[in-house]
Amino acid sequence: MRILVTGGAGFLGSHLCDRLIKDGNEVVCLDNYFTGRKLNIAHLLEHPSFEFVRHDIIDPFKYEVDQIYNLACPASPPHYQYNPIKTTKTSVMGAINCLGLAKRVKARVFQASTSEVYGDPAVHPQPESYWGNVNPIGKRSCYDEGKRCAETLFFDYHRENHVDIRVIRIFNTYGPRMHEADGRVVSNFIVQALRGEDITIYGDGQQTRSFCYVDDLIEGFVRFMNQTEIVGPMNLGNPGEFTMLQLAELTLKQVGGKSKIVHKPLPADDPKQRRPDITLARKIIKWEPTIPLEEGLQRTIAYFKTRV
Ligand code: NAD
Ligand code: UDP
Repeated sequence: MRILVTGGAGFLGSHLCDRLIKDGNEVVCLDNYFTGRKLNIAHLLEHPSFEFVRHDIIDPFKYEVDQIYNLACPASPPHYQYNPIKTTKTSVMGAINCLGLAKRVKARVFQASTSEVYGDPAVHPQPESYWGNVNPIGKRSCYDEGKRCAETLFFDYHRENHVDIRVIRIFNTYGPRMHEADGRVVSNFIVQALRGEDITIYGDGQQTRSFCYVDDLIEGFVRFMNQTEIVGPMNLGNPGEFTMLQLAELTLKQVGGKSKIVHKPLPADDPKQRRPDITLARKIIKWEPTIPLEEGLQRTIAYFKTRV
């Protein structure tokens, strides 16, 4: 197949490009390098089945493709809050452009949605049937509401125009190729520990997240994209749940060194708890994560040792 990956030079996108090429597909990778970088795809640039296009997804584009994976959007809170209006435009206009193309060329189109559609969840763990608890006017809203609106567009194009959609809700995922300055918690803690700097816990560190290693997630993407039973939304994530304090301690134990844990103010609307209910993924795509946090952290630390 010929497959378009938007956001393909980013953390998840570059791993997806690798996987799709390995499976024998041709890949068109579209990215504006806002948070992604050439380094992530440098090894693919000379590959005969790989093509890179520098383009902003808010402007229309046309490619004859069989499938589209839409991942273009900054994912880390400091980056998506850097230019919040642009973040909403990226989610919403990016979705419209992908869906318009999918409609024209009859491609199957995949949306990388997020557990942020559940906001600060009042239901725990979160099943796909939960409608969420999202502040529409806060600092996280550009991302959360942008992604919610993108889901709406996907389902309306599906109902109105029979576009063949797949919608995945991704829970916190980490691994090699996250940017050193990404700002999300796993990369922050590892980089701080490797540099001997203070480990910054926001708030009291009792808030929880569930961390999925990137290889598990990409396997779930491909399985979900290529099944025909359901269009989604489907949660993908690791149901293991950890406090940020536990994550900091685990990272310090694995990296060693002299870093101290310090507390910084908790950002507004920071979700208190998050854990995916993956019953649907287990049933439909026979998927569950195979790489525990300890092992995934080791692999990610090995990567960051080459970067910092
Ligand atoms: P990332 O920041 O590494 O990747 C995003 C990519 O999109 C980057 O390469 C960036 O340059 C590109 N991009 C951003 N705006 C663009 C635009 N306007 N036009 C073209 N390209 C643009 O983040 P990631 O973790 O790889 O996330 C990929 C996708 O998965 C995002 O849509 C994100 O919302 C979603 N997601 C990720 C996670 C996670 O834990 N990693 C969780 C939930 C959802
Ligand atoms: N966090 C933290 N220290 C950091 C970065 C993040 O304690 O250096 C916390 C953050 O407040 C949140 C959790 O870690 O409670 C996960 O943050 P991240 O930005 O990785 O993802 P998200 O909040 O979008 O799930």
